Amino acid sequence: MRLETLAVHAGGEPDEATGAVVPPLHLATTFRHGAGAERVAGYEYQREGNPTNDRLRAALAALEGGETALTFASGMAAMSTLLETLPPGSRIAIPDDCYTGLRILAAEFLPDRGIVVERLDMGDLAAVQAACQAGLALLWLETPSNPLLKVCDIQALAAIAHAHGALLACDNTFATPVLQRPLALGADVVMHSTTKYLGGHSDVLGGALVFARDDAFTQRVARRLHVTGATLAPFSAWLTLRGCRSLPARMAMHCANAARVAGFLASQAPVERVHYPGLPGRAGHAIAARQMADFGGMLSIEMRDGAEAALALAGALQLFTNATSLGGCESLVEHRASVEGANASSPAGLLRFSVGLEHVDDLLQDLSQALDGL
Ligand SMILES: *Cc1c(COP(=O)(O)O)cnc(C)c1O
Repeated sequence: MRLETLAVHAGGEPDEATGAVVPPLHLATTFRHGAGAERVAGYEYQREGNPTNDRLRAALAALEGGETALTFASGMAAMSTLLETLPPGSRIAIPDDCYTGLRILAAEFLPDRGIVVERLDMGDLAAVQAACQAGLALLWLETPSNPLLKVCDIQALAAIAHAHGALLACDNTFATPVLQRPLALGADVVMHSTTKYLGGHSDVLGGALVFARDDAFTQRVARRLHVTGATLAPFSAWLTLRGCRSLPARMAMHCANAARVAGFLASQAPVERVHYPGLPGRAGHAIAARQMADFGGMLSIEMRDGAEAALALAGALQLFTNATSLGGCESLVEHRASVEGANASSPAGLLRFSVGLEHVDDLLQDLSQALDGL
C-alpha cells in the first residue's frame, strides 16, 4: 500500500464492537482481569498500554516501515527514554546543529547518567568515522536539522555506524515519513516529536520511537517507558492519529508553500542567507534531493543587518505569528536566539519559519510589506 493510503487506514480500522468508522477513544485507566490477573484483551493498566495508543503505534510503525513503535508524552520523553536506556559509560555522538532540547539534555542530564556526548558535523564523514572507531554506542542524526536545516546522508552514516557496531537513531520530526523514511535508509530507530507535523494542528503534545526491529534493546526501552511512566494520554493519541490521516495532504502544501517562500526570501536584499534544503546550490541539496521526496515546510534566514533587522522583521509580520514550535496549519516565525536565551547557539540574525497552509500569495504579501518597512 502507498503512504497516502496507509496514512488514512493504518490504525484507523472501524471499531469491531460498534462498526464506528472513527476509532473510539478509550479513557479507561484500568481493565477488568480474571481473579488470577488473567488479561481479557491484553490490557491491564493505562501506563502499560491502552487500545487508542495501540492504534497510533500501529499507524506510526506502518508509516515509518518499522517493526514496532512506542508513544510518549512528548518528543523529549521519547528521546530521553531512548538515550537513558543505553548502559552507563556509553559514548554517543549528536549533530553540531540540533534541537535545543537535545543540546540541553546532552549538556545537563546525560553526563549524570554516565553517558558521554560528542558533537559532530554529520556532513564530515571522516570525523564520524573517527568517532565510531573510538567506540560509539549510538549515532544520533537530525536531518534536516534545527534551526540551520543542515542535511546529512543517512545511508552513508548508517553504513559507518553499523561497521563499528553503533546504533543509528534519526530525529525525523522536520521531514516526517512522508518525505523521508530513515529506517529504509538503514537507521535502527526513528524519533518524532508528534507535537509537530504528525499532530499537525498545534494542539497536542506527544512523541514516538519507531524501531526497525522488536529486539532486546527495543523491549528494554519499552520497559523503561512503562515503569518510568512518560506515557502518552489516550486523548493525545487520538488527536495524533487524526493528524496522521491528513499528513500526506498537508505535507504537500507545506512543501509547495515553503519552496515559494524560500525562493522569494532568497531574492530580497536584506536577507543574507536562506537555509532551505530545496534551494539548488546549497550544501546538502543533492543529498536532500536523493533521500527526501520533497524539501519540507521549515526554513530559516539570516539577515544582513543581524539581530536588529531580524527582530524588526519578526515584529512587522502580521500573518506569521511570533511563536515557537512548528508543523501546524498556521505560519509561525521565531527569533531563535531570543528563545534560547543566555547560551543561544543560533546566529543572532536568524529567523526560523514554519510555513503553514495559508494561500502562499498572502504569505508572500505579508513578507513583502514587512521587508518594505525595514
Ligand atoms: C519539538 C522537537 C523536539 C521535542 O519534542 P517535544 O514534543 O517538544 O518534546 C525534538 N526534536 C525536534 C526536531 C523538534 O522539533
